[in-house]
Amino acid sequence: MEKIKMTTPLVEMDGDEMTRVLWKLIKDELLLPFIDLNTEYYDLGLVHRNETNDQVTIDSAEATKKYGVAVKCATITPNAARMTEYNLKEMYKSPNGTIRAILDGTVFRAPIIVKGIEPYIKTWKKPITIARHAYGDVYKASEMKVSGPGKAELVFTDENGNETRELIHNFKGAGILQGMHNLEGSIESFARSCFNFAIDTKQDLWFATKDTISKKYDHTFKDIFQEIYDKEYADKFNELGIEYFYTLIDDAVARVVRSEGGYIWACKNYDGDVMSDMLATAFGSLSMMTSVLVSPNGYYEYEAAHGTVQRHYYKHLKGEETSTNPIATIYAWTGALRKRGELDGIPELGKFADALERACVKTIEDGKMTKDLALITTLDNPVTLNTQDFIKAVRETLEGLL
Ligand code: NAP
Ligand code: MG
Repeated sequence: MEKIKMTTPLVEMDGDEMTRVLWKLIKDELLLPFIDLNTEYYDLGLVHRNETNDQVTIDSAEATKKYGVAVKCATITPNAARMTEYNLKEMYKSPNGTIRAILDGTVFRAPIIVKGIEPYIKTWKKPITIARHAYGDVYKASEMKVSGPGKAELVFTDENGNETRELIHNFKGAGILQGMHNLEGSIESFARSCFNFAIDTKQDLWFATKDTISKKYDHTFKDIFQEIYDKEYADKFNELGIEYFYTLIDDAVARVVRSEGGYIWACKNYDGDVMSDMLATAFGSLSMMTSVLVSPNGYYEYEAAHGTVQRHYYKHLKGEETSTNPIATIYAWTGALRKRGELDGIPELGKFADALERACVKTIEDGKMTKDLALITTLDNPVTLNTQDFIKAVRETLEGLL
């Protein structure tokens, strides 16, 4: 078989620990034999981030702006223990945070569904994709403890020194206070990312807030989404036969549980934090969650939702056998290759991505899987494979399909 050619490079962001081991295996076994892989390589492994004072992370995000599509391996976010382990010059920020700040995007997370790994909610047949707004609200709030009686007010001072005041509460005794904010620009970007992603994936978009209680704050989210939808997206949605649906957050939760899935659920920052863990768990496994950062300018960065699987890596370093699930990392590559193919008009790339995803699903449904899935599968007599053998099994299935 002739290898598939690529015209534009994919931005490749390598990472850390066990996922770095997976990264090489996936390329060697599942990609390089089939594709003339054209990537611009950035090593975001912590050693190289430290050598470059984290410049490599910034460069990789800038390259994503240039080419449009990136695929990222999981990376270590340094903490005190990592400072010593890697002898770091600085406690660098999370690469995902740095990249998101440069691309200004929204993160979409979706589970990979296979027979034998059943969602806890029986009605769920299709994936539910969570889109979490990643700016502001309680994550950028100021807080205060009030020790006794007194008056609390919100005060806004404009550039000319004019004050606007709003009473929060006349305290009769001790209590607590919180002041939070968001930005129209950030909400607009969030809305556009969500509408674009709905069009891209041809799925309905749901959005929910608590606008009946929060008549200015949450209502602004609702209004911005509606205005942008009406002006820029309604026609395209109608054309594709997909729907934009707004409701209250508590109603949304009830509907999600009763639904079949197959839509995107846009959430405010805190709702998204809570609901993405609920969905990941309810769908079965963190190692089966994909993640893509979509910028309002149409840049895409694909990755797995899980981390570097540190515990497995230490076993690997000791020469012990591991059984680490590569599926979400493989899907990061297929997502990126499919998007590259779409943008460059190379349908073979999309077809290859489809085949590789089918090979992943089929291998598991045929009963061959990594340990994390073997522990929760409803299939009888699953065969638990180690990391390398599972990837080889996917390769065999793929060759059968191609
Ligand atoms: P983690 O790497 O997601 O792993 C947590 C646990 O989940 C693992 O110990 C393992 O459980 C299970 N697991 C996750 N992915 C798996 C897979 N592919 N196959 C099998 N089991 C899997 O989270 P963490 O251990 O809290 O974090 C490790 C490092 O990752 C940290 O340095 C953190 O900063 C970083 N991190 C990076 C990203 C990112 O780059 N996007 C995201 C999150 C965390 P068992 O040990 O029970 O087998
Ligand atoms: Mg969380």
